[in-house]
Amino acid sequence: MHITLIAGARPNFIKIAPLIHALQKAQAERKNIRYRLVHTGQHYDKNMSDMFFDELNIPMPDANLGCGGGTQAEQTAAIMIAFEKELMAHPTDLVLVVGDVTSTMACSIVAKKLNTRLTHIEAGIRSWDLTMPEEINRMVTDCLADFYFTTSEVANENLRNAGVSEDRIHFVGNVMIDTLYANKHRFIKPEAFDELKLQEKRYIVMTLHRPANVDEADKLRNLVNQITSNVENEPIVFPIHPRTARIFHDLGIHADNLHIVDPLGYLEFNYLVKHARAVVTDSGGITEETTVMGVPCITLRDNTERPETCTIGTNELIGTNPDNIAPALKTLYAGKWKEGAIPPLWDGHTAERIVEILLQK
Ligand code: UDP
Repeated sequence: MHITLIAGARPNFIKIAPLIHALQKAQAERKNIRYRLVHTGQHYDKNMSDMFFDELNIPMPDANLGCGGGTQAEQTAAIMIAFEKELMAHPTDLVLVVGDVTSTMACSIVAKKLNTRLTHIEAGIRSWDLTMPEEINRMVTDCLADFYFTTSEVANENLRNAGVSEDRIHFVGNVMIDTLYANKHRFIKPEAFDELKLQEKRYIVMTLHRPANVDEADKLRNLVNQITSNVENEPIVFPIHPRTARIFHDLGIHADNLHIVDPLGYLEFNYLVKHARAVVTDSGGITEETTVMGVPCITLRDNTERPETCTIGTNELIGTNPDNIAPALKTLYAGKWKEGAIPPLWDGHTAERIVEILLQK
């Protein structure tokens, strides 16, 4: 069995790391499985790409398609053109895509048009919000896949409702959480921790990068102002995503408690999260990691494709209305945030389960 693995953007790298390690283990046990890793180049900054390969011990990609930048359509088209050439030059038994980024969708379309079997990891999750580019990527990918690896019973149900037969759905857990368990003993204190004199459980971590929150200057200014003025006498550390940085520096926001840093490596970022009082975010993956680490998470979105982070975990959706920030922070500082538990099969062994199943395909 030969598999081509696709990775293009930051959350993808975190998801493929445990898969590659499980594939390497199977190879060491002389199982009949080989792989080729293709990086589409969607994220290309050192601190959005290379750093994760180094830190998470991911081997150098076998091919880099160099498709960074551009609009949604330009990037989709560039990845499709480049990946079609790549797949024609290096045919495979199965293309494996993870998550919901542009690369996930673009490579799925190419794979199926070249009659190659396709599998999707983190399949079936839905926000039902078509203003999110990721939701379109998920829907297209799940229309095309031959079989599906899922993180939750809700995802299974979404796939069943879309007419996918039971034998094509494999409920295996969460590869992003495999990475968390595999690395939690290696987290690294970022330099900013001592520089900013942070104290455990006495600071907030903030990340924002969804177009709905960061693409309009007034919206972003309002959100950030509400956060900085309602966080009670403690620092807010804001590792800023390149998309947000492009607009943020022109907003003229200066608050004594707001500390902007470059995007952090995985080991540093999760050290910061683990020791924080809470996280304020609009990320998807971070709501899963905070759930597993038991850190309160305030999500500035109206919906989530990961409902178990709210129904089981520590996450709460407060929407994108800045007026909702003050009451949420009040609950947090009153010590009334929910405790949360860990969703089924988020146990650090998902990638091994996936490789076991792939070996039978
Ligand atoms: N992350 C990181 N450094 C940062 C911010 C996030 O390593 O400065 C990691 C985080 O731990 C998680 C992933 O990036 O594993 C989430 O990526 P992102 O929020 O970009 O994507 P989403 O999950 O929203 O698709």
